[in-house]
Amino acid sequence: MRYLCVFGNPIAHSLSPLLHNAILQSYKLPYLYGRFMLDSGENLGKTFDKLDLCGANITLPFKEHAYLVAHSLSPLAKRIGAVNTLVRTTSGKICGYNTDAPGFIASLLLSGFRLGSAKGLEESLQSKEMSKLAPLLEQSSGERIESALILGAGGSAKALACALQECGTPVIVANRSSKHEAFFTQRQIPYCLFDELDSSARFDLIINATSSSIAQALPLPESTLAPLLARSKLAYDLMYGTLTPFARISKECGTACKDGADMLILQALSALRLFCPQLADTPRIYTIMRSVFTQGRRA
Ligand code: NDP
Repeated sequence: MRYLCVFGNPIAHSLSPLLHNAILQSYKLPYLYGRFMLDSGENLGKTFDKLDLCGANITLPFKEHAYLVAHSLSPLAKRIGAVNTLVRTTSGKICGYNTDAPGFIASLLLSGFRLGSAKGLEESLQSKEMSKLAPLLEQSSGERIESALILGAGGSAKALACALQECGTPVIVANRSSKHEAFFTQRQIPYCLFDELDSSARFDLIINATSSSIAQALPLPESTLAPLLARSKLAYDLMYGTLTPFARISKECGTACKDGADMLILQALSALRLFCPQLADTPRIYTIMRSVFTQGRRA
């Protein structure tokens, strides 16, 4: 038997074991996927070794620790500065990947949106993480996203901004504080405070990548947000499983809102294919994970 797990704190809520074990069992692969609550990111590397893992996913707040634990990094993980997937190679070295960004991009394409320049997207599809999802992404021919606004500047905002920029979609990041500004300016991604947002601007895609939805709050005042949402083609809240205030306001503005469920499923799918390269039937794996996710949310 080979072992995989997800590290985080808290971790009890994680649906990753459910998603991964459903596929591993369905294909009768000799792997077991568990969850591990880590007290400190300092212990990540030695716990990975002690548990004799062949791979792991990393969630809040340890993605930057995982970046440091990896002996080598995929170009995407290096650019984002965070790792959510660790894979032990046959030589015993640990490789770090970021499958959050491909999960997000794939979720947009799967919903029928087109992104950025054909060349930019084609290049981004070649990353190892993204290529694991490619079979799902062939028929995207819907509305084009020409511009994006990301609300929030934490770990997921960083991954999404880099991914959109790599696909050739112009993106702006707005946050309540300036504490993450350097990351974005170093990568030539425009950054502003919520107060500096022009509510008459137009963005095709508006993403709520703040943690505000956890507290059932809006990330910024409705008077600024609603006019922006009313002009956008798609609102996207990374939170899933509940109607958030952001989603409610989007609906009131007549703008479609997507939640974070597909992103979660697709990042898991990309990670699982990195753990088990023999798993090739991406569309079937997606269908099973989608159905297990829906049942898991009901339970
Ligand atoms: P981080 O903690 O790294 O970043 C949180 C961001 O939210 C920061 O920019 C922070 O601002 C801002 N923020 C926090 N509270 C508020 C508030 N009340 N109002 C406005 N801004 C606020 O979190 P992540 O980036 O990892 O996650 C963000 C969200 O995305 C969470 O809801 C998480 O559950 C979800 N998520 C979903 C995923 C999926 O697969 N669907 C994957 C990853 C995350 P400041 O910088 O000033 O502190």
